[in-house]
Amino acid sequence: MAAEPQKFGLFIGGKWVTPKGTQRFSTRNPATGEELASFVAGRPEDVTAAVSAAQKAFPEWRATPAPKRGEILLRAAAVLRERKEEVGRIVTREMGKVIAEGRGDVQEAIDFIEYMAGEGRRLAGETIPSELRSKFCLTVRQPKGVVACITPWNFPTAIPNWKIAAALICGNTIVFKPASNTAYCGAEVVKVYEAAGVPPGVLNFVTGSGAIVGNALVADPRVRAISFTGGVETGRDVYVRGAQQLKMVHLELGGKNPEIVMDDAELPLALEGVLFGAFGTSGQRCTATSRLILHEKIYDEFLKMLVERVDRFVVGDPMDPKVDMGPVASADQEKKILEYIAIGKKEGGRLVRGGTKLTGGPYEKGFFVAPTIFETKHGSRLSKEEIFGPVLSVIKVKDYAEAVRVANDVDYGLSSSIYTRDVNRAFRAMDELEAGITYINAPTIGAEVQLPFGGVKNTGNGGREAGSAAIDEFTELKTVFVDFSRRLQKAQIDPR
Ligand code: NAP
Repeated sequence: MAAEPQKFGLFIGGKWVTPKGTQRFSTRNPATGEELASFVAGRPEDVTAAVSAAQKAFPEWRATPAPKRGEILLRAAAVLRERKEEVGRIVTREMGKVIAEGRGDVQEAIDFIEYMAGEGRRLAGETIPSELRSKFCLTVRQPKGVVACITPWNFPTAIPNWKIAAALICGNTIVFKPASNTAYCGAEVVKVYEAAGVPPGVLNFVTGSGAIVGNALVADPRVRAISFTGGVETGRDVYVRGAQQLKMVHLELGGKNPEIVMDDAELPLALEGVLFGAFGTSGQRCTATSRLILHEKIYDEFLKMLVERVDRFVVGDPMDPKVDMGPVASADQEKKILEYIAIGKKEGGRLVRGGTKLTGGPYEKGFFVAPTIFETKHGSRLSKEEIFGPVLSVIKVKDYAEAVRVANDVDYGLSSSIYTRDVNRAFRAMDELEAGITYINAPTIGAEVQLPFGGVKNTGNGGREAGSAAIDEFTELKTVFVDFSRRLQKAQIDPR
């Protein structure tokens, strides 16, 4: 008999609460349709209560020394490490990525919390010389206040932790709204911080739709910063509305990431890269390889190698370690991906493999799309728009210059990759590819928490997550002048 779905409340002021009169929604396993857990469909007044709790907790959390805040984060990392297998399985059941990737999602969260705990003993400002004598100048970092963390479903424990751990170590208090599709993972993240002893009100959790809960968070004037990861259209809307109140809005948005394979590349290595990049997480990574740009000299050979491997791909139950690719995350995702496949056919792309919904047997109750390869012309919608599914556009180019031109000619700029054995070309690509991230002889996916993460063009608005760069997103820099001359000194005006 299936286990009774868990029922979660909201987490406000250190307590799990179910406000009177609220409706509920559930999340389901995209491989089986099984109901997993149910959640409160938050209302604007619930957001108001959560922001009030965060605001109340702010002065004490701000005054807590950063190394002490770091100790709580280290406890959170330890709790999550202890629960890694359990939470990794929840990730796979709720989001559909294969179990090795479910565990990887949780590992990334652990790594990041530990990294940020260490930042508690740095949080460095600068000392900078004054132009005047007997005057000392420095910068110190201060928290922004109440911040909203709004997250997508594709990395349902890693991305929330990228935001939460960074915001907490800097002394901010938080209202966290997870993607509705992966609210169970979101609730487990909150339980980890609760178990680690985060004080009441420092981290609050409100589930519910973006249109209601997300909107209310963006609109509340007490929320001073918004850290948002999601689609371009939603991000643009959040940015515009946040700007009306002059909030800091940090955006991590979509991608259309190229892997370039040059004629001198180590082809078997490039093949492994594209398989992992394009079909890992069923192509639902912001850094997924969605364009394969092949030099004409190796085009036919490489495409043949690719097709042979994809033909052996096992699509199925993501809990089964022998499975290469699980379902896509939801009915909406499946619909959008199948629509793009239809667009690709209409545009005259040659469907090389896949292109269908998988049905029957183990696929009957889930959202499964076959790994899909299209030969496309650069400029087609398939080759330029983010699909966010297991659909790879293959594009032929005649040389390196054309490869880079094609790679750069999209609205996005998150990740990029080139396979070549020519060191000069590798360094040129590092310089010339318009993206926040470039991999040389590695796939477009593979972020590590100690390095900045983010993109250019429509992928974001200039900020970076992860690494020490994340600290910039969650702190204000205060400039301090200490004059110990015991007289009024005037910068720019005193005789020189
Ligand atoms: P999404 O539809 O934009 O949703 C993202 C989050 O925003 C969800 O929590 C959603 O809530 C919420 N939301 C929706 N409408 C809102 C509104 N009006 N105001 C405030 N919040 C609102 O994106 P998604 O489908 O979850 O994620 C896929 C996208 O994320 C892709 O484009 C992918 O490239 C991008 N992504 C980017 C990165 C990166 O780091 N660059 C990483 C991962 C994913 P509901 O779930 O309740 O709708």
